[in-house]
Amino acid sequence: MISLTDGQCGLCKHYGEDHSDQPQLIQIRTSKSAPEDFKDTCGHPQVEPLQLTVTADSGCQGFEAAA
Ligand code: SF4
Repeated sequence: MISLTDGQCGLCKHYGEDHSDQPQLIQIRTSKSAPEDFKDTCGHPQVEPLQLTVTADSGCQGFEAAA
């Protein structure tokens, strides 16, 4: 498991945005940790059409904290 901090995909509202109620995504947000190999799609409007897949510890300037 890897620990996550603000600015990383696992804690971003765009991470897996179209299925954000998935239990594993909720677990990642609440525990602020994720399996090292966990990947999901980024739903940021600027890249959503590209189906960009990122690890939970990736990040970018589009970060917005998940509720
Ligand atoms: S790539 Fe950027 S916008 Fe997409 S989930 Fe990660 S931090 Fe959020």
